[in-house]
Amino acid sequence: MTLTFDVIVVGSGIGGSSAAATAARSGARVALLEKSDTFGGSAALSAGMLWTAPDLDAYNRRIPLGNPVLGRRLVEDFADAIEEVRATGARVADEPTTDIMTYGIGYSTDIHAILAACRDTVTDAGGMVVAGAPVRELIVEDGAVVGVIAATADGPQEFRAPSVVLASGGFGRDPELLTRYVGPQADRLLARSHVGNVGDGLRLARAAGAGGSRSMASFYGHLVPWPLAAFEPEHYLPYSQYYSGSTVFVNLAGERFVDETLGDEIINQALVPQPEARGVLIFDEHVHLTEARQEPFPGLGATDRFETAKEVGGLWASADTLDELVPQIAAWGVDGVALTRTLEAYADAAETGGSALGVPVSVGARAPQTGPFHAIMVQPSITFTFGGVPISTDGEALDPDGRAIPGLYAAGADIGGLSNIGYAGGLAPAYITGRWAGRAAAARALDGKTRA
Ligand SMILES: Cc1cc2nc3c(=O)[nH]c(=O)nc-3n(C[C@H](O)[C@H](O)[C@H](O)COP(=O)(O)OP(=O)(O)OC[C@H]3O[C@@H](n4cnc5c(N)ncnc54)[C@H](O)[C@@H]3O)c2cc1C
Repeated sequence: MTLTFDVIVVGSGIGGSSAAATAARSGARVALLEKSDTFGGSAALSAGMLWTAPDLDAYNRRIPLGNPVLGRRLVEDFADAIEEVRATGARVADEPTTDIMTYGIGYSTDIHAILAACRDTVTDAGGMVVAGAPVRELIVEDGAVVGVIAATADGPQEFRAPSVVLASGGFGRDPELLTRYVGPQADRLLARSHVGNVGDGLRLARAAGAGGSRSMASFYGHLVPWPLAAFEPEHYLPYSQYYSGSTVFVNLAGERFVDETLGDEIINQALVPQPEARGVLIFDEHVHLTEARQEPFPGLGATDRFETAKEVGGLWASADTLDELVPQIAAWGVDGVALTRTLEAYADAAETGGSALGVPVSVGARAPQTGPFHAIMVQPSITFTFGGVPISTDGEALDPDGRAIPGLYAAGADIGGLSNIGYAGGLAPAYITGRWAGRAAAARALDGKTRA
């Protein structure tokens, strides 16, 4: 039996939940379909900080390769989105946190309450939320998307609607798509996300004629210790080395390759093409006692991230002097002669600014100087991909010529182009793009009903 709705949403993370609730509030009957047995995707694993760039200038400075049209709408909609979330009764901090990921502004929230409130909005409006229903196919008729086929416990089920929103969380867990778009060593990336984020939305959209966005090679994630015996959702926050921007970061050749002060989520990306996609963070006791123990923002937890790395099996070393530390790092296969040269050049450049052996050193960078000195081996991880389905500011999925595909919308990590190397946040952009898609998807469906 075919089930008929106004709007179908694929994926129950924050992008899909927001799209579904927005469509329901607009008067649409919505089916929210989730592949897993539980709702919430990566959003339910997250720290719950709803944040983004404080304004368009800041967005453009931090993400010069981003999409300024989407970026403008994102920052313009942020305050209204926060008020909407607050109105659900879910906890939202009274005061904003600033300088998130070096520049952002945001509010700590109870993300589980927000997700639940969105689902309630859908069911209260006569819609349906279904877990264990992976969408396998889009139904396309006369060039328009008119529904989906989902695998359910009772077999394939057809859901029909004039509008379908894809919000499957990006392709961060699909080694084949990662290798194709991010590069040859991307299959080494450790997944730091919900298991459902395997690129279903991108594949479905492509099959319906969608193009690709800029930023297909770029992604969000954090450096984590190497090696690791296990990396499960409860490890994602405590193992992340958020303070790496205050370290000297070298590859296995003992050389720096990126300006560390860009921040952990950016230098994490820079590590992927380096030898064996592994690197070493070198820092002093001052950094250990300050940044490595701080809570980077509310929700992430204050813990000694260096001690955690040691406890969970990461390669580590400590010594009273840098001269004693270097041979310990060299024993891991790092070129010790090059590393000594790198540390000396970094110390010189940190005083004057400029560059060390051709790699930028920011003004204000601080060379390791207060013993004992420490090192840990790290690897890159991926939380979600920045590239994906190109969209309009109405959340319409676009073909390679920029034309909207009738009936198809996308939101959250399934869309591409908002972040590109620089990061504009995950939850808030997903919530806001979900609103764009949900509103336009409902308008298309309800407009069709009026005309019929
Ligand atoms: C540990 C951690 C901490 C984080 N902390 C923050 C933070 O504090 N602030 C922030 O801004 N961002 C944070 N993020 C990132 C944020 O969680 C994501 O950016 C956000 O969840 C993306 O939302 P989404 O709806 O696009 O994807 P998701 O939340 O991942 O949801 C996608 C859903 O779609 C489902 N799905 C996939 N394929 C199908 C299919 N074929 N059919 C049906 N369903 C399907 C998946 O199972 C999943 O449930 C964090 C992420 C992690 C992992």
